Amino acid sequence: MTQHYDVISIGGGSGGLAVARRAAAYGARCAVIEQGPLGGTCVNVGCVPKKVMWYAAEVAHALRDAPDYGFNVPGSEFNWTYLREAREVYIRRLNGIYRTSLSDGNVDEIKGFAQFFDKKTIAVGDRTYTAEHVVIATGGHPVIPAVAGAELGITSDGFFKLNQRPGRVAIVGGGYIAVELAGLLHALGSEVTLILRGASFLSRFDAMLRETLMEEMLNQGINILSGVSPNSIERVDDGSLTLHCCEGQQITRMDCLIWAVGRAPNTASLSLENAGVKTDPRGFIPTDEYQNTNIPNIYAVGDVTGRTALTPVAIAAGRRLADRLFGNQPDSRLDYNNIPTVVFSHPPIGTIGLTEDEAHDIHGDGVKIYQTRFAPMYYALSAHKGHTAMKLVTVSPRETVIGCHIIGLGADEMLQGFAVAIKMGATKQDFDNTVAIHPTSGEELVTLK
Ligand code: FAD
Ligand code: NDP
Repeated sequence: MTQHYDVISIGGGSGGLAVARRAAAYGARCAVIEQGPLGGTCVNVGCVPKKVMWYAAEVAHALRDAPDYGFNVPGSEFNWTYLREAREVYIRRLNGIYRTSLSDGNVDEIKGFAQFFDKKTIAVGDRTYTAEHVVIATGGHPVIPAVAGAELGITSDGFFKLNQRPGRVAIVGGGYIAVELAGLLHALGSEVTLILRGASFLSRFDAMLRETLMEEMLNQGINILSGVSPNSIERVDDGSLTLHCCEGQQITRMDCLIWAVGRAPNTASLSLENAGVKTDPRGFIPTDEYQNTNIPNIYAVGDVTGRTALTPVAIAAGRRLADRLFGNQPDSRLDYNNIPTVVFSHPPIGTIGLTEDEAHDIHGDGVKIYQTRFAPMYYALSAHKGHTAMKLVTVSPRETVIGCHIIGLGADEMLQGFAVAIKMGATKQDFDNTVAIHPTSGEELVTLK
């Protein structure tokens, strides 16, 4: 017999779980269909294991600086295998917590790969399920470019499976994943070469962030090759990899090559045609501002929509959709403006709103920029030096803050509170009226001249 639900989420990641759990809290009969471990990309091969590795890199930096603060730390060799196992134990614990939260929240978990049979019917193997509302939250997967020997490289998924620390690593790409993996691998002792097809990385970020991170990464000893595109990869006699570039360069003796060139949506095998759901040319599912697809009662949230691909965005869009469908909040929808985001580079970046260039394009002469650059106090005693840079983008007539960009120690934790203020429409005067917290880096943001 076909089981009927009020809502089915296809995908048990950030977005799919959020819709189902919120809808169930309103009393809706809900199911989540998931082919793999619960939690999706973020928990299993994304934010969570990445942040564990980032913390490990921070520990490595602290150990490097420890003698400058009077510590003698003998025997602090890094054990990759230990960390990997500890990380996986933690992730398995999270998978279990998600499972319990589904059963506690009266959401059915259906294991398997979902495909549309028709607009209201989903097939999983030889079973079918029907629902009044279907939410597509199938996320994405890493892209592997079509170059000869590409299969010799790995992606971020493969990075999390590495049994040992690679000695020499080439990372191709210049987005979040490329700079994050480059920074943490370098901190953990790998020799890293970052390969950018353009002049710089993080192309959509404020120039100050790009330039400062580039300088910091080069100072740390990360090799960065700009304006270079891979042509082919080969495994040579000594077992290492050689990357041949279109521009003629060869990058030799690599133990590992990581593709970090973006992600594509998981839509190709969903049989969307059986429901009439349209995709764009890259396979993403376009939605309106209420997460509606072109087919009534079928919605999409999270990475599969091609919008800002961040966990809290998928969760917020999913919860607001459930509020709208089952919580008597007909106007509930996610405002995609002013979404704060952090790049877990070394040092980290925190950013929200318009870049300086975007602000000038939109607001012309009404834009006024406040910025600063300094060496944080942490480095006063250390041999290793680093910098912090901050920028506020404001617009007349009230000098409303429409962009805030921070790179430096603590930027990751600094931004969230400022994001609240900016979302509320804070002005430069509001920043100035806030008493500083001393001695911190954050105080510089409320004392900018
Ligand atoms: P997903 O979490 O990808 O979930 C989709 C789920 O659907 C998957 O579990 C998949 O198995 C399942 N599925 C797919 N097709 C089917 C099917 N047909 N049937 C059944 N199940 C199916 N974001 C941040 O905010 N902060 C970070 O620090 C951060 N770090 C990241 C680091 C890495 C390396 C990566 C790759 C991503 C990172 N992200 C980060 C992005 C974040 O992980 C995603 O934005 C988020 O997971 C998207 O959630 P989602 O629900 O849309 O998709
Ligand atoms: P991004 O979209 O961030 O970056 C893709 C990068 O790959 C760009 O630098 C792009 O270059 C480059 N690129 C694309 N095609 C090629 C090619 N053929 N050869 C060489 N370079 C190429 O993708 P990621 O995979 O890094 O991350 C996916 C998304 O996941 C992010 O956008 C983000 O939303 C999310 N994420 C969030 C994190 C966080 O919140 N901290 C961490 C990790 C991921 P160009 O700029 O020249 O186009």
